[in-house]
Amino acid sequence: MFVDVAKIKIKAGDGGNGAVSFHREKFVAAGGPDGGDGGRGGNVIFQADDNLSTLMDFRYKRKYVAQNGEPGRASRCSGKNAPDLVIKVPRGTLVKDAESGLVMADISGDEPVIVAKGGRGGWGNSHFATPTRQIPRFAKPGLPGEEFEIRLELKLIADVGLIGFPNVGKSTLISVLSAAKPKIANYHFTTLSPVLGVVKVGPEASFVAADIPGLIEGASEGVGLGHDFLRHVERCRLLLHLVDVSGCEGRDPIEDFEKINTELESFSPELAARPQIVLGNKCDVATPEQIETFKNYIESKGLVFHAISAATRQGLNSIPGEVYQKLQELPPVVVYEPEYVRPEKTTEGGRSYTITRADDAAWEIDAPWLERILYGSDMDDYESLQYFQRQLGESGILEELVKRGVQEDDTIRIGDFEFDYVF
Ligand code: GDP
Ligand code: MG
Repeated sequence: MFVDVAKIKIKAGDGGNGAVSFHREKFVAAGGPDGGDGGRGGNVIFQADDNLSTLMDFRYKRKYVAQNGEPGRASRCSGKNAPDLVIKVPRGTLVKDAESGLVMADISGDEPVIVAKGGRGGWGNSHFATPTRQIPRFAKPGLPGEEFEIRLELKLIADVGLIGFPNVGKSTLISVLSAAKPKIANYHFTTLSPVLGVVKVGPEASFVAADIPGLIEGASEGVGLGHDFLRHVERCRLLLHLVDVSGCEGRDPIEDFEKINTELESFSPELAARPQIVLGNKCDVATPEQIETFKNYIESKGLVFHAISAATRQGLNSIPGEVYQKLQELPPVVVYEPEYVRPEKTTEGGRSYTITRADDAAWEIDAPWLERILYGSDMDDYESLQYFQRQLGESGILEELVKRGVQEDDTIRIGDFEFDYVF
């Protein structure tokens, strides 16, 4: 499979910090806490863009960072949520976790996909006022945005297949067509694999051409590797049929042309029916009569013919534009790829924890995952509290505390939160 790959880093924005502030008014000695919440950090979102056909942009810019949320302010003013960072990729791009290789998202549909979530904004101190704690001098910091090292993979499907006998100049043509601009995709496969070239037509226009060697007589019966190559040809919407008009290898161009088409026909009639543009190559060493004879033959079949020389670049100027134009008119070939299931994301380190006894005899639980739950829940809310309790139970933390002799009314400290232990 031909794959275009890029490795980049993405980071969602951090949540803004909650504010510590107290209401101030003339003649009021000490107002209540009124620190606002921090804003949410921007998400990193991927979206398909049909104007893109390669991952070349990601070779030059490798780090994508969304903005942080604004910190909260006084008078219960929440900080602004940061805008999302939208990264446009060619349709069909897979976003994989660089380390595990697991697929995090498949950017094939129209819907934008959030890959890295922005951090929640922290709570301002106004949230922490309770009957017994009327002057909370603390607020929650914003949570960090998710950060990933990812690998983008794009399965390139060649729009254009180059067919023709060995040595007619397919490799030469593709190298010439795709070498005139910055190297976009420089694929090195073994000599037996198809070679892809991205042919740039304009600033936003390009197509992918595959040089498909090994299309030899008998290929349709599975001789050699012909079959695999034909499978690649099968996906192309347009065929460029290259023929050596000079007959310099002792072959007859008309016979070659027909043989290749017969091969295609027996492999797949559908494929043989794909539009073809016929390129008579090696015109630099062909006689005008040879070119004329072949041209007449091709045109009598109602096909478009161009006389070219891949080696001297003669007659090539108009080819990319014409191919591109033709592709615009052709419907895309529907290719069914196997479905995949988005893997469950596991919390780093699972639900691990450590319990230590602090100097003030409080039980300190170090469990970042649990802190995250706490930050995200409203402890005045019965259901949130239940959820939190359940996490404590399921993770084995409660059991461990009991084993280590926790007593009624002991202090349990989790991050910045404190609880009294009650049976
Ligand atoms: P492929 O097997 O179809 O990929 O053919 P290659 O691109 O490898 O070319 C086969 C041989 O033909 C090489 O020696 C090329 O240099 C030569 N060749 C390719 N295009 C031209 C051309 O336009 N004119 C001439 N004279 N030779 C060419
Ligand atoms: Mg070749």
